[in-house]
This record gives sequence, structure tokens and C-alpha cells, in this order.
Amino acid sequence: MQNRNILIIGGGIAGMEAAGQLLRLGWEPVIVEKNERLGGHVAKWYKLFPDMMSAADLVQTLTDGIKEATVYLKTRVASMNRLKDGYSVVLSNGVSLQCSAVLIASGFHLFDAAKKEEYGYGVYDHVITNADLEAWFGGAPDNRVPANPGQVAFVHCVGSRDLKAGNAQCSKVCCMTAIKQAIEFKERFPGAQVWCFYMDLRLFGKKYEDFYINAQKDFGVHFVRGRVSEVSEDIDGRVVLKAEDTLAGLPVKLRADLLVLMSGMLCNSDTAALASMVRTEVDSDGFLRSRDNIYRINESRREGVFFAGACTGSKTVPETVAEARAAALDIHNYLNGNA
Ligand SMILES: Cc1cc2nc3c(=O)[nH]c(=O)nc-3n(C[C@H](O)[C@H](O)[C@H](O)COP(=O)(O)OP(=O)(O)OC[C@H]3O[C@@H](n4cnc5c(N)ncnc54)[C@H](O)[C@@H]3O)c2cc1C
Ligand code: SF4
Repeated sequence: MQNRNILIIGGGIAGMEAAGQLLRLGWEPVIVEKNERLGGHVAKWYKLFPDMMSAADLVQTLTDGIKEATVYLKTRVASMNRLKDGYSVVLSNGVSLQCSAVLIASGFHLFDAAKKEEYGYGVYDHVITNADLEAWFGGAPDNRVPANPGQVAFVHCVGSRDLKAGNAQCSKVCCMTAIKQAIEFKERFPGAQVWCFYMDLRLFGKKYEDFYINAQKDFGVHFVRGRVSEVSEDIDGRVVLKAEDTLAGLPVKLRADLLVLMSGMLCNSDTAALASMVRTEVDSDGFLRSRDNIYRINESRREGVFFAGACTGSKTVPETVAEARAAALDIHNYLNGNA
């Protein structure tokens, strides 16, 4: 009898969607999640671009789809050994199990904005990150967000496309996240002036360009092309930004009541350890290395080990969900000898 267990490392949306699909295909997924709840980063977001779907509703839908799966929260994989067909695994909670295949869905880490000291995160009173703002939209109190902001600035590419920060890659989602959050801000504070400081706008997905146009036409969000060169705090606690508008060729100085830093997506700090445990490789950007980046992005170079979601690079939610479905089918075909 073939062992029906599939080990899934990471209970974010990638791990959850793959587990739901594997259940439907007749397998027995076992999700090992290191945190106390499922949903990963999306469980901390408020609304999702481009449709402004509720993030909580998406996580609930995925949760409903995995009622029959085994889920271990606050648990990690302690050790793993290759068997003739599959893996023998010991978890940090003492449970041992055997599985026929492994899916890594360990996601990403957000860049620590405090590392870009020039922006004053953790130092100035009214500087927050995109993740902090998602939490505030979701109802978490945050006294860095003023009660009635008049001017709000978003700075793109924080810790992305930045060799000094050690990450040359584009994080792909943060231009859209800035536009999403700028619109949400204007919905709450129609009188506020909202500014986005960007290097390039990377809006590659379906409806993304419309989203950007609506932000300008319907909500009056201002877009300034230029890197913010200096941030300081004035005597009233407002954030003073200096930048150059590279399209107009003019210097810009803005006093903002709130500065939002668009922190980028980096590889999860567990990635190297996970790769070494399953004896697969990481890429030069630190994310897990797929067999190739065109046709076999869900496959590792190791027999029976698969990937889904942001563990291989920055991904949007629809990309993550699509990859998770594909990974489930890849595993199904692999175990049925159809790979
Ligand atoms: C601020 C922000 C806003 C965003 N908003 C949008 C949006 O509106 N629309 C959109 O399309 N995309 C958005 N995204 C992108 C979205 O967050 C990702 O596409 C999504 O989170 C990827 O899901 P994932 O499951 O691959 O990874 P994650 O969400 O990172 O989940 C990975 C899970 O694995 C767990 N894990 C990690 N290591 C281990 C381990 N060793 N053992 C056990 N468990 C482990 C983690 O705890 C986590 O639960 C946004 C991103 C950011 C940064
Ligand atoms: S998506 Fe936009 S904000 Fe994010 S790194 Fe790329 S260009 Fe910068």
C-alpha cells in the first residue's frame, strides 16, 4: 500500500490551497506551520488588490477546504530522512511520520525597514511600513497613524532594487500594494493629499493599469517619479521628505503627517536550513531554486520535493494560488508515475 501522506511545510495560502487540492485528489496532507495560526502573511492583510477582496474571507475559504487535513501549529520539522519511496520525518512536537512527497510552502520575510536608517523607521513618530498599515486597516491600534492626516507619503522600493540593502530584485507586489493602500487611505480620509514616490511603476497584471488610473482619476492620488533622498522630523513631529521629481526635473520637499515605507519581499530566513534539510538548493537571491523558471517552477532538483508560492520568489496572491494548485497536480502525477 502506498503511503498517502504528503508533508506540507508552511501553512500560508500556498500550503493551504495545495492541501485542499491534494485532499480532493485522494491524498492525506499534513501541514506543519511554525506560527500559531494558518494563512501566513495574507492573514495579516486587510484587502487584496486588484479586486479589493477581503483577505480574511480568502483565508476562511481556504480553511474550509482543509477540514480533513492534519494540521500541526507552532511546529517545525526537526529532521527528515530519505527512504526508498518517500521520507521519514520527525516534528518538533515529537510526532514521527512517513510521507510519500514533500511540498515546501514556507513563503517570504518582509524586509526590515529599520535597516534603511535614512527613513527613520522606529525612530521618527510617524513612519510605518506597508505591513503596519495593513494591520491598522484591519483594526489594530497604532498611535503612529494620526487621527486626521492631511498629507500622507508612500515610498516605493524599500529594501528592493537596492544593492546597498543587499537585494537587487524587484519585489513585484509593492507598487500595487502602495496604490491599494493609497486608495484605502483616500476612502477613509477624502481630504488627505496622498503622494507615491516611485522609481518605476511595475503594474504587470490583469486590471493593474486600471487600478493605477483609477487611483489618479477617482481618488486624486499624486505620483512622483523620484527617489526620496532625505527624511527628517520637524519640531511638530511631522516627517519632512526631500526628493527629486525626475520627470519635472524639480526638487520636491514635503511635510507629511504619515510616511509609509513599502518594504519588499525577501526569502524567508528558514530557507537555507530547509534547503539543506531536504538537500536541495537556493538561488543567488536566497529563495529556493526551482528545477527551472519556465516549465518546472514547482519542482525542486530533489526527488519527491516540490515548491509552491513565495518560497521561490516574490509572488502575488493569484500567482501563489495557481502555483499551489499546480504543485498539487505535480505531486499527484509524480506519485502515480505520470511525471
Ligand atoms: C504588505 C503586503 C501586501 C500584500 N498585498 C497583496 C495583495 O493585495 N494582493 C496580492 O495579490 N498579493 C499581495 N501580497 C503578496 C502576498 O502576501 C503573497 O502572495 C502571499 O503571502 C504568498 O503566500 P505564501 O503562502 O507563499 O507565503 P507566506 O504568506 O509567507 O506563508 C508562508 C507560511 O509558511 C510558514 N513557515 C515558514 N517557514 C516555516 C518553517 N520552517 N516551518 C513551518 N512553517 C513555516 C510561515 O509561518 C507562513 O505561515 C502582499 C504582500 C505584502 C508584503
Ligand atoms: S514592485 Fe514597485 S515598489 Fe516594489 S520593488 Fe518593484 S518597482 Fe519597487
